[in-house]
Amino acid sequence: MIISKQKPLSEILSALEGSARVFLIGCAKCATVCKAGGEEEIWQMQEALTAAGKEITGSIVIDEACHMLRSGRDLRSKKEMVEEADALLVLACGAGVQSVSSGTPKKTVAGLDTLFLGNIRRFGQFEQKCSLCGECILTETGGICPVTVCPKGLLNGPCGGMDNGHCETDPEAECVWYQIHERLQSRGAVEKLRRTVPPKDFSRMLKPGKLKIEK
Ligand code: SF4
Ligand code: SF4
Repeated sequence: MIISKQKPLSEILSALEGSARVFLIGCAKCATVCKAGGEEEIWQMQEALTAAGKEITGSIVIDEACHMLRSGRDLRSKKEMVEEADALLVLACGAGVQSVSSGTPKKTVAGLDTLFLGNIRRFGQFEQKCSLCGECILTETGGICPVTVCPKGLLNGPCGGMDNGHCETDPEAECVWYQIHERLQSRGAVEKLRRTVPPKDFSRMLKPGKLKIEK
């Protein structure tokens, strides 16, 4: 899931300077779960912007803002309200903002900061688990990602700073390579650690990423 959080209101107001009428857009998927861009946050934003002297021409929570066709279709259903607005404030991840902005000549303001691809620990608590490296090594590491969880991104065992199973950058945290060792040992697969993972092929992380699935 894409983890995002709302920008400070002062930053949003500054981006909306000169735009008296605003149309609000949320996303019913990740941004809703992050409590950053769902129905409730759209309503709260409407209150805050109205108090700041803005006129809200309307709002919508798109089912999946990163889906370009769906985003375009949903916005067409609110065509008049969108046209009345001087700016569209989008409470969705960066992909959602770009879906919206690609389909309108209107000024588009990003209301969220997109943080990382994460897992939900429990409601309202997220953890970064994958850095989208394009070359997954989880099979070798017992399903724990050192690329993301190790602050140094080490691929072949712990650094010299590991202390009694704890990370040198945060003594409260377990070293990810200690965790990997424990996990592999519990699965009777500790011999995997004898293999050396080759240096990462960073060309797989080249931007912009593109993938066409032809099935
Ligand atoms: S190795 Fe880690 S960063 Fe790379 S794809 Fe797998 S989980 Fe994501
Ligand atoms: S102690 Fe472990 S998790 Fe921390 S930086 Fe070193 S290898 Fe990475």
